Amino acid sequence: MDLKKFIRDIPDFPEKGIIFRDITPLLKDKNAFQYAINEMTTALKSIDFDVIAAPEARGFIFGGALAYNLGKSFVPIRKPGKLPYKTLSEKYQLEYGTAELEIHEDAINEGEKVLIFDDVLATGGTAKTLKSLIEKTGGIVAGMAFLIELTYLNPRKLLKDEKVISLITY
Ligand code: 5GP
Repeated sequence: MDLKKFIRDIPDFPEKGIIFRDITPLLKDKNAFQYAINEMTTALKSIDFDVIAAPEARGFIFGGALAYNLGKSFVPIRKPGKLPYKTLSEKYQLEYGTAELEIHEDAINEGEKVLIFDDVLATGGTAKTLKSLIEKTGGIVAGMAFLIELTYLNPRKLLKDEKVISLITY
């Protein structure tokens, strides 16, 4: 199945000059959604990990389904002020603007192997931030997986030593 057919390009969103890859048509099509989860599930069998950590909001949709499918735990990483217990946080630069993410300080056990999942790998700034958050908790990043990788933004330059999987590339 050509998953690209289910990704919609939105020019100038959320800012002029950005082409936003909209994944909602893929979620809307039950066969495409299931196919994407199954393909990613198979790809992730090549990585040894215990936990999937994913950022809101789109990371939750896929990360939760993958964790369920693979029998792994799930750790939510959220925007500031959303997590109820003690948090660790990290500020970072986005493709557009700045942002901050938080994780519960006890979300990951010391030495636990973590797979980072997000819908889109763009500049790699978010993925790098997720990695440092996970390391602050004592976790070890075993790999990173994305539905979409925007190779023209050179994200792997920031993620040189990481094992990175992506299903759809532009
Ligand atoms: P990065 O930090 O790699 O530049 O940006 C990745 C983050 O921004 C991800 O959390 C992703 O959800 C969001 N993002 C950036 N560009 C896009 C895009 O074109 N489409 C979607 N769906 N998300 C994007």
